[in-house]
Amino acid sequence: MQTYDSLLATITPSSGPTRDILDPATGAVVGSAPVHSVEDLNRVVAAAVAAQPAWAALGHAARSETMQRVADAIDAAAEPLAELLSREQGKPLNGPNARFEVGGASAWLRTAAATVLETEVVLDDGPAQASLHYRPIGVVGAIGPWNWPMMIAIWQIAPALRMGNAVVVKPSEYTPLSVLALVAVMNQVLPEGLVTVVSGDREIGAGLSSHPAIGKVMFTGSTATGKAIIRSSADTVKRLTLELGGNDAGIVLPDADPAAIAEGLFWGAFINTGQTCAALKRLYVHDDIYDEVCEALTALAAAIPMGVGLDENNVLGPLQNKAQYDIVHRLVESAKESGARVLIGGNPVAEQPGYFYPTTLIADIDHDNALVVEEQFGPALPIIRYSDIDEAIALANSLDVGLGGSVWSSDLDKAREIAARLETGTVWINSHGTIHPMVPFGGAKQSGYGLEFGVEGLKALGVPQVISG
Ligand code: NAD
Repeated sequence: MQTYDSLLATITPSSGPTRDILDPATGAVVGSAPVHSVEDLNRVVAAAVAAQPAWAALGHAARSETMQRVADAIDAAAEPLAELLSREQGKPLNGPNARFEVGGASAWLRTAAATVLETEVVLDDGPAQASLHYRPIGVVGAIGPWNWPMMIAIWQIAPALRMGNAVVVKPSEYTPLSVLALVAVMNQVLPEGLVTVVSGDREIGAGLSSHPAIGKVMFTGSTATGKAIIRSSADTVKRLTLELGGNDAGIVLPDADPAAIAEGLFWGAFINTGQTCAALKRLYVHDDIYDEVCEALTALAAAIPMGVGLDENNVLGPLQNKAQYDIVHRLVESAKESGARVLIGGNPVAEQPGYFYPTTLIADIDHDNALVVEEQFGPALPIIRYSDIDEAIALANSLDVGLGGSVWSSDLDKAREIAARLETGTVWINSHGTIHPMVPFGGAKQSGYGLEFGVEGLKALGVPQVISG
């Protein structure tokens, strides 16, 4: 039985340069992460190149069975993994947070293992025959962010393994321990060299995205970094899946029931303390029910506990790092200066050990305020009043990102009609951000391209090959 201490010991470097990783809730040292070099990157890429053919040769059934055993190993280490994730990322153990994330990682892995990508007959006309197959890419680079480090690493690793690839993972420099630990647990089962982690700064990410032996980069992170990766991968014409930033709008129609939707709206916006790509980041509410929705959300915000993640009572935590705290603080201040109405929050305690920003709701805010048009990625939700649905849709579509969106109504047909007019990769009806391992997920506009999850997600980790004749 793996304990927290034994898990941490397996990833603590015995030599080479290291960096202390601090708990964002307390400032305490969580552990020490290796600072890998470009030479280290080259070494693990070479090991991945060597390990990949035998893995591909196993075939789908044997790979699938091995991946189920990897998921068993994650389940067996779930509690120490969740504790490490909570300490490093800041998210509480409970609520839709650390234990939920580890459980999700295992569930996504199992679904990818069980999903079958069938050969597609694209032409069947007498002697004219053509079929579409997917070959392994080879070595896949997986670059991830700090908000859902384990879950997102699995979203990248699982379909890559299923399709016969090796993977080199580059976690965020803010949350390397979570990914190092997850991969260490996976490697209790996987063959050596098949999945490795390089832990370092953005130079390692840039090295990975220009490396000639890497055929594809799965990237999840900011739009600015996504653009840098497009550039640095150009010379080697890498395949890319880019899951980038978002600024999701939710539109509440006048026929919605404020009491019935309040909880869905709240967690749509504040899951992982707002540090979620497809969180609800701008809420447009019809004038008829604006005050009722504001009141219901304020009551929830006042009641839902925020604090140190290891305290079992808390379900909201700190911002993961100082840079993100500063962004949230700046955006809320800009809203306050513009004369917008603070319903709750907006008053962080200056002297405290962690990066805690209180749950904040801002009403009667202009649609062009910085808190509305920039991605806050934290616990501060602007609530914009509208009276004309066409105007609300135009505002929702007015930004250059389009990850998700939502429509809230008691009339499903009407909600679906409006959903079809939103320029986003996903539109949810009467929920926001709910994902499923078989339902494709991806962005529109500058929120990226490519799909993850399900059969479409597997296709993205193979090279299509047509056999004709
Ligand atoms: P980030 O772009 O700053 O960093 C992400 C990763 O890219 C890190 O590992 C970083 O080291 C690496 N990196 C930085 N510069 C690089 C370069 N030039 N080349 C290669 N790699 C480089 O993002 P973040 O702050 O960690 O994450 C927050 C952002 O991620 C938000 O915008 C959020 O919306 C987005 N996000 C999107 C999704 C999605 O599915 N669309 C999911 C989660 C987060």
